[in-house]
Amino acid sequence: MRPFDYIRAEAQSDATRAGAEGATIIAGGTNLLDLMKLEVMAPDKVVDITRLDLGEIGEARDGGLRIGALVTNSDLAADMRVRKNYPALSSALLAGASGQLRNKATTGGNLLQRTRCYYFYDTDQPCNKRAPGSGCGAIGGASRLHAILGVSENCIASHPSDMAVAMRMLGASVEIESEDGETRVVDLAEFYVLPGEDPSVETVLKPGDLITHVILPAPRAGRQTYRKVRDRASYAFAMVSVAGRVSVQDGRITEAALAFGGIGSQPWRDGHVEEMLVGEEPSTALFAKAADALLADAVTQDGNAFKVPLTKRTLIATLKDLTAEIAQ
Ligand code: SF4
Repeated sequence: MRPFDYIRAEAQSDATRAGAEGATIIAGGTNLLDLMKLEVMAPDKVVDITRLDLGEIGEARDGGLRIGALVTNSDLAADMRVRKNYPALSSALLAGASGQLRNKATTGGNLLQRTRCYYFYDTDQPCNKRAPGSGCGAIGGASRLHAILGVSENCIASHPSDMAVAMRMLGASVEIESEDGETRVVDLAEFYVLPGEDPSVETVLKPGDLITHVILPAPRAGRQTYRKVRDRASYAFAMVSVAGRVSVQDGRITEAALAFGGIGSQPWRDGHVEEMLVGEEPSTALFAKAADALLADAVTQDGNAFKVPLTKRTLIATLKDLTAEIAQ
């Protein structure tokens, strides 16, 4: 690990000022410290925000929740309002990492965790995300963990978060304070940037920006679930995951929200797929059609082509669960 300066922020303005001057923000450190030890990231300066007053879960004005960026993954998963009204989020959090990591990992940090692409972590390998212009080792290489949607010819990394998939399904937004003290709210749908030409740019955050809260809209009707398929039963990243909420009335689907992990360059949501379901009677044939539409633009490698049939089966099974007693 390379030497670095350490600053402790006593106020949000300390953090945004230091960030604008090039410091890297640290909170739980569950991903950043690994990256620093491997010298994948080598900041000259880190600013520790763990003393800031961002550790509460409050009620939002519309009946939703306003989650402080420093709320740990464990506390968020255990919150009774989350368990009752946003069970897919609680399940997604508990499906991520280990208990020890969830006790340290924060809500803001979880959104910003970096891909687990093997080449990104190995500084001897080419990686456009770590070293722009150096190439992509995963294209034509080991790609089992990698994305099939939203990829570019420069990067096929998948986003690793479970939490962010559930939040995307729930329609969450991110509250950000900038260096000038202004606060803006960005829908999670607009927060992440596709890899395109420069995969080193992952979000719309600018130097000096600080995530202060995540806002969940008021709970909506319908069943929720989070289904995660992985190589072992715990402490593994998703090969495919689905966060879903479906509402059914009089035998027809009235609302559907679906987001996917493990297959997208960012937590993935496709409004067209949801629209296909609304107004229809639940059936395996309908769910298969929706899965085909989701995967129509999939770009696969030898190592991750299995995700196409796996995603299809996982989505069908998830939708059957969400509409059980109705689907044929
Ligand atoms: Fe780097 Fe992305 Fe290629 Fe992985 S997939 S090696 S993160 S450019």
